[in-house]
Amino acid sequence: IALSSEASVSLNDISFTYHGQPFPAINNLTLQIANGEHIALLGRTGCGKSTLLQLMTRAWDPQQGSIQLNNQPLNIYDEATLRQMMVVVSQRVHIFSATLRDNLILAAPQASDSELESALDKVGLSALLEQDGLNAWVGEGGRQLSGGEQRRIGLARAILHSAPLILLDEPTEGLDADTENQILTMLKQHCQHKTVMMITHRLSGLDKMDRIYVMDAGEIIEQGTHQQL
Ligand code: ATP
Ligand code: MG
Repeated sequence: IALSSEASVSLNDISFTYHGQPFPAINNLTLQIANGEHIALLGRTGCGKSTLLQLMTRAWDPQQGSIQLNNQPLNIYDEATLRQMMVVVSQRVHIFSATLRDNLILAAPQASDSELESALDKVGLSALLEQDGLNAWVGEGGRQLSGGEQRRIGLARAILHSAPLILLDEPTEGLDADTENQILTMLKQHCQHKTVMMITHRLSGLDKMDRIYVMDAGEIIEQGTHQQL
């Protein structure tokens, strides 16, 4: 199936139960995300947000219902195409014990140093460049990054990546309100032609999203624009 620079997602009545669990983590859930739309997925801990994101990446397949990407079933995409169609910033971002450059370049092998530096600047991490620039060593044997810094490295990877679909799992957790606001504003501008799903449990910054979905116990219980909710 062909790569596309667009991404619409359709989840049709999906249910998913983890192996050995008595209750479904996702329960008859239907959700459509149009190409170019920025949505927020909200809900209390354990309601199934990360599970939903993982189903969208095909970490698992739902036992019931179907997921479509650009009107094609997700399971007909080969792995390589899927990886080019979507980029994920998960709740725990993996940082390699390597240079800053190494940690970013995997998202955009063609990117120049100045593009990598600009991405770090956009996520408020240019201070990391002060001593050794992109050669700065991070992770084991180097500078240990805080949780908030790790997530912003993930965000920098996401904005460097060419994928039309960006999936973010609590990307601003642990950041102060100012930094969070700055990053959400940057995302809205920088990713305006991309499709974005952002999981969050924070209410701040939701005005920058086109649509908000509230989940509870594996279901969407409310949806609307920031003004409507
Ligand atoms: P949080 O806001 O804390 O990240 P969440 O909304 O992302 O929560 P999920 O991680 O999707 O919630 O979990 C949904 C439900 O599925 C929870 O009851 C959780 O305990 C369960 N669950 C999650 N991962 C697994 C797993 N690998 N095996 C079994 N059950 C799991
Ligand atoms: Mg989660």
